[in-house]
Amino acid sequence: MTPNPSAFPAPVRRVAIAGAGIGGLALGAALRQAGIEFTVYERAAKLHPVGAGLTMQANAMAALRTLDLDEAVASAGAVLGEAVILDRTGRLLQAIDLGRLGRELGAPVVGIHRARLHRILLDACGADGVRTDREVIGYEDEGERIRLRFRDGSAEEADLLVGADGLRSAVRAGLLGESPLRYSGYTSWRGICRAMDPAPVARTSESWGEGARFGIVPVGSGELYWFATANAPAGGEDPPGRIRESLLERFAGWHEPIARILERTVEEEIVRTDIHDRPPVRRWSKGRVVLLGDAAHPMTPNLGQGGCQAIEDAVVLARALRSFSTLAEALRWYENARVRRANQIVRNSRSAGRIAQWESPAAVLLRNALVRAVPRSIAARPFARAMRFEIPRL
Ligand SMILES: Cc1cc2nc3c(=O)[nH]c(=O)nc-3n(C[C@H](O)[C@H](O)[C@H](O)COP(=O)(O)OP(=O)(O)OC[C@H]3O[C@@H](n4cnc5c(N)ncnc54)[C@H](O)[C@@H]3O)c2cc1C
Repeated sequence: MTPNPSAFPAPVRRVAIAGAGIGGLALGAALRQAGIEFTVYERAAKLHPVGAGLTMQANAMAALRTLDLDEAVASAGAVLGEAVILDRTGRLLQAIDLGRLGRELGAPVVGIHRARLHRILLDACGADGVRTDREVIGYEDEGERIRLRFRDGSAEEADLLVGADGLRSAVRAGLLGESPLRYSGYTSWRGICRAMDPAPVARTSESWGEGARFGIVPVGSGELYWFATANAPAGGEDPPGRIRESLLERFAGWHEPIARILERTVEEEIVRTDIHDRPPVRRWSKGRVVLLGDAAHPMTPNLGQGGCQAIEDAVVLARALRSFSTLAEALRWYENARVRRANQIVRNSRSAGRIAQWESPAAVLLRNALVRAVPRSIAARPFARAMRFEIPRL
């Protein structure tokens, strides 16, 4: 593969991106920086990110630095100093010094409200590059170009179609065929707890019970993002208007401030999501179509890496498109750089979730004792590996 030293002409003049989530917008920002023309087509009529908050791990912050967005994200969120695992009574099982890890990796770990992250990515991408109410339903790869078809009956042409359309990606279905999602065995709830007094400390926690977890992440502006999980059949629903109440019942007897956080959350803003992933695949591209983010490697959220990996994909794909003179070489380099790493995180995340959701009291006692016994330096290692971002050499 011959890197294109002059960086131009790029192998594509116009890129169509399906989906204005974290991955699609990050790719828009990276292509804009690279001087490559693009349009993001978003199904929703209005851009409004679902899912309260999230953690941007050090690898995502390092990737965002290449787009000059790391400082904006850090100041719109909360830089986290420590991550702890607790049991349901609040007893410490394990701790990771995120401040130290961040210094070693050269980038911090940040908790942030999703709406604020999306706003930063949208501004960097440029709102005029995003078309809402445009659902991609299919495409024809015509060799010299690609033709996208939309739900409203219209069509557009481009040199490359990037499927950044999430877990239930239509572009992926066109590329790899329809396949069922893999249910993890647990569901989740997420919310934001407003205006805590005193302001939250820079510590993120995850408390482990029997078949259930509760996580708390400061996201700046005095707010806390929280998530809860519980083993449950797929497709379950909460009684309308009683989500908060049923969570208060489910987490009754757990340590403070869990009940206080739930009480301070607006019922209508609680989001419930069944947790799915897909078995990893080795090819994310064919011809003039390529996948990115959850469309390529949907993962369970146990390592807080889904959005972070989407940002890594975006930065690496844009680098590929400006560095090679043929599209085939650029996409091969992108896959070589990304597939193994992302797939490993899919697998690790799934295993971590399986253990964290153990239900039998005896197994939970044993698990908690083992987690407590692991030296902190060893406990930090898998996180440090996942949090290291490097763009491979051309
Ligand atoms: C409970 C939970 C907690 C999580 N916590 C974290 C965390 O702490 N850190 C982290 O990094 N990640 C986390 N994640 C994962 C993260 O949310 C996803 O990995 C991330 O949003 C993926 O980004 P994406 O852009 O690939 O897809 P999405 O965010 O799903 O965006 C896809 C976009 O495409 C649009 N779309 C869909 N179909 C079409 C179509 N046919 N045509 C046009 N547009 C379309 C959608 O409307 C959407 O806007 C968590 C996930 C869950 C469920």
